[in-house]
Amino acid sequence: MSSLPTAQIPGVYHRRIGEIIVTGLSDGYVDLGYGIFRNVPEERAKELFAREHRIAPPRISVNAFALRFGGRVYLVDCGSADIMGPTCGWLPANLAAAGIDPAEVAGVLLTHVHPDHSNGLTEVATGRLLFPNAEVIVHENEIDHWFNDELMAKAAERPRRRYFEAGRAQLKPYMAADRVRTFRDGEVLPGVTAIPIPGHTPGHTAFVISSGRQSMMIWGDTVHVPEVQVAMPDAMMEFDTDPEAAAKRRLRTFDMVIADDLLVGGMHLHFPGFAYLTKDGTGYRLIAEQWAFQV
Ligand SMILES: [Zn+2]
Repeated sequence: MSSLPTAQIPGVYHRRIGEIIVTGLSDGYVDLGYGIFRNVPEERAKELFAREHRIAPPRISVNAFALRFGGRVYLVDCGSADIMGPTCGWLPANLAAAGIDPAEVAGVLLTHVHPDHSNGLTEVATGRLLFPNAEVIVHENEIDHWFNDELMAKAAERPRRRYFEAGRAQLKPYMAADRVRTFRDGEVLPGVTAIPIPGHTPGHTAFVISSGRQSMMIWGDTVHVPEVQVAMPDAMMEFDTDPEAAAKRRLRTFDMVIADDLLVGGMHLHFPGFAYLTKDGTGYRLIAEQWAFQV
């Protein structure tokens, strides 16, 4: 008998949207404490976790997505590199497994600038661009916010270090190379439309991917912890810049994907991160998309 497996096969899953191949790529996951919620009593969170047969404390998956069309490759977010511990930072390995060379990535779209989404841009020690031929495509409010010295001075130590300073270190080499393109909304690439969903961060953005008759929404951090925030969309997170705006926006985004019957791709939905959302009584329910053998 061959030896027993000790690791999973690569975290790569392809889904065709018309002419566009959308690939879910795992960066890994991180286990965090119940303190990540602002307004959810620990008992209630534990109940919701138990109901879904989840391990506790909350495990947050971290995904990025690749878009391939017209002979080009783009990424939506680019993983956390070395800032989130040993269970994260696996995006480069999974990119390799997906046959994507970082040098062929033409653009990195960012849902927002946070360590688990943008820390894979630059090797900070050397300033080396990890995607040497890519432009970074990001909402203008993200640049305005994270490069605002006054706001940075007012921030507590941890967010100052992990959000402001780390974000700047990631983006500056691309700015120096004139490789950052900002947007407000609308089509940012052929078939890729930016929908600003501010709240979690000021320039937090969802991207609607459309080709032929098919479309889906990559909704960034609309949900961090599906077990809790789908049942309780008003659950706010400690990493929200404006938690109340984030909660309101979550509900509006939920209603939008249901009204438009959109498949969702989520950075923190459990890998591979493709799901449908549906109304369930007075609340909502997330249904993971079924696995398909063929792309
Ligand atoms: Zn995130």
